[in-house]
Amino acid sequence: MFRYEDLLEEVAEFSRRGVETGEIGKSVLGRSIPYVFIGDKTKPCLIVQGAIHAREHITALLVVCQAKYLLKNSHLKLLGGVYFLPMTNPDGVKLCQEGVGFLKNKQLKSNLIAINRGKTDFSLWKANVNGVDLNTNFDACWGEGERNVFCKASENYVGKQPFCEPESQALRDFTLQVSPVCTLSYHAKGEQIFWRFCQDQESLAVHRRLAEGLANQTGYQLVSGEGSCGGYKDWCIQTLQIPAFTLEVGNDKFSHPFPYKQFDNVYFPNEDIPRRLLNSVVTINQTE
Ligand SMILES: [Zn+2]
Repeated sequence: MFRYEDLLEEVAEFSRRGVETGEIGKSVLGRSIPYVFIGDKTKPCLIVQGAIHAREHITALLVVCQAKYLLKNSHLKLLGGVYFLPMTNPDGVKLCQEGVGFLKNKQLKSNLIAINRGKTDFSLWKANVNGVDLNTNFDACWGEGERNVFCKASENYVGKQPFCEPESQALRDFTLQVSPVCTLSYHAKGEQIFWRFCQDQESLAVHRRLAEGLANQTGYQLVSGEGSCGGYKDWCIQTLQIPAFTLEVGNDKFSHPFPYKQFDNVYFPNEDIPRRLLNSVVTINQTE
């Protein structure tokens, strides 16, 4: 299992090798949310983020391995830079993997167990430690999703208002700061690609071409994704007006949390996706 502490070690190792690393902000409990940047700072960039949903922590390992691959293969053509954000919900991942044992605050422990309907097994938890599903907390048709709920829960709670959580604020602010040409969000599971959110006709055609490219490269299915709202991808498409994709890794026949024994099947279809996606977006933007 890939833990938050493993991530910090990996980031430190990147840093020792001279790679730019940093943090986009902090979680509810003050954990640093790290990033690793590879490529050319003066050129267009892509953001790749994982583990915004706690139980999908295998995607954090995926994003770290993608960064290692890109670093190792610096001879391959890269038309810009990639910000890798492997774990945007670190408190949630710890809760999911360890239960409430790591928490110092007794009140918080009992609140979380109550939100988890009395269970001390948090392995299926998706939210942060405020019981907010961060991928419903973005300001993009916020609160209008089919599965949205309006009280604290292990999943699907949209929060009191858009961006009420430090993790979603950090991801928003960092995205606005680096102004990516595209974003890629990793989730589990289903081997699907979500790419639509109220685009105009012109953008729709371009985004569809990019999505089809991703489908060809990964073997995943394109999904229209009607009924989902308030996600990071949705906000990127609507507010930044850039192509943004959610990739659901891993075959649906496996249960949550996605088994690490299947990591090769998660990793290999996605190994070189950040570089190829960035190159495609930059090339399309240049020819427009
Ligand atoms: Zn997810």
